[in-house]
Amino acid sequence: MPEYKTYEQKMRFYKSSEWKSLRLQALERDNYECQECKRQGEVYTDQHDPDKHKRLDVDHIKEIEDYPDLALELDNLQVLCVWHHNEKHNRFSSKPPKWDDEKW
Ligand SMILES: [Zn+2]
Repeated sequence: MPEYKTYEQKMRFYKSSEWKSLRLQALERDNYECQECKRQGEVYTDQHDPDKHKRLDVDHIKEIEDYPDLALELDNLQVLCVWHHNEKHNRFSSKPPKWDDEKW
């Protein structure tokens, strides 16, 4: 079972030809549309944009760090625009609001 814990392990994965072809399959399946924008009713598509690969990311719904066996599972992939991709990952790293104990 491969592990994707470190930056190097992840980079090796994202550079693999397996990932590159699977990534294209996910883009095709999702019609080059951000699935999160779609859920919100705004279709974000870069289909006619020559720079599409810079602005659409393929995201692992379950992180490969925690679910390495789902790394190459098409069902675990979704297309997200760069904006929503960043938002998803910031959500996990954002700290809970600081407890303000001065009021007590
Ligand atoms: Zn989006």
